[in-house]
Amino acid sequence: MDIADVSGITADTALHGIFDTHCHYDDHAFDGDRQAVLDRIFSHGSPVEYLMHACTDLVSAEYGIAAARKYPNYYCSVGIHPEVFDKEYGIYRGGLPEGYIDRLKKLAADTNVRAIGEIGLDYHYEGSDTPEMKAAQTELFEAQLMLANELGLPVIMHCRDATEDFLALCRKHRPKGVCHCFSGSAETARELLELGLYIGFTGTLAFKNSKKTKRAFAAVPTDRLLFETDAPYMAPPPFRGCRCESDMIAYAALEAERLSGMPAQELIDIASENAKRLFGISV
Ligand SMILES: [Zn+2]
Repeated sequence: MDIADVSGITADTALHGIFDTHCHYDDHAFDGDRQAVLDRIFSHGSPVEYLMHACTDLVSAEYGIAAARKYPNYYCSVGIHPEVFDKEYGIYRGGLPEGYIDRLKKLAADTNVRAIGEIGLDYHYEGSDTPEMKAAQTELFEAQLMLANELGLPVIMHCRDATEDFLALCRKHRPKGVCHCFSGSAETARELLELGLYIGFTGTLAFKNSKKTKRAFAAVPTDRLLFETDAPYMAPPPFRGCRCESDMIAYAALEAERLSGMPAQELIDIASENAKRLFGISV
């Protein structure tokens, strides 16, 4: 996805107390001004109060742990994203890093690591739904689900074009956690809720053509709702196609207000409490 350089654009609303439960500030889209963006997010008067770094590989884990040490309300996950098998991705083209479960376990001992993620299944890209690729993704996902259960940590899960296999593995391992950037059906949302999982909504909730996501949102009780950006991706209108930053959650929350009739601030407060409960943050 191309992300226009729009540094400096911020969502101008009076909302506050936002917990962005899924963001990638180690992405190259932030290489030019990462520190300035994070300093702004954690400055006095910012609408955003908490961040959860969604980790994608071992390098990303090191970033998350260092960032969480620097900023008081920045938490992180550690885990390996299913796209490591994407031939465009590159880093682990030669295979997964040796001993990656033990390495993740060591990283997870850091006090700011509050989840295993982002992990899951992604059959979207060409060549990622062959039997070999599915088997490799399943093995990686299951190993990390078992790690999370062993460590008593929640999971941050990614599922694209893989609903049936994903649900089967959730039923088998019964993780606690969140299915992030939800864009599935209301029926799938209900199945995930029955398994005790939370559902994360990004700015896609505010996309005009996201009728399915809006219907799924209506099926999610507020005590299982999380807000997230997936920054730098998924910027909501009016910033669609631009680099996404955490304060843009305001637009997802305003759409949630329109859909549910509950005030956006109340929804943000509830979703932030949900996130703190899920990630074991007591403040
Ligand atoms: Zn993500």
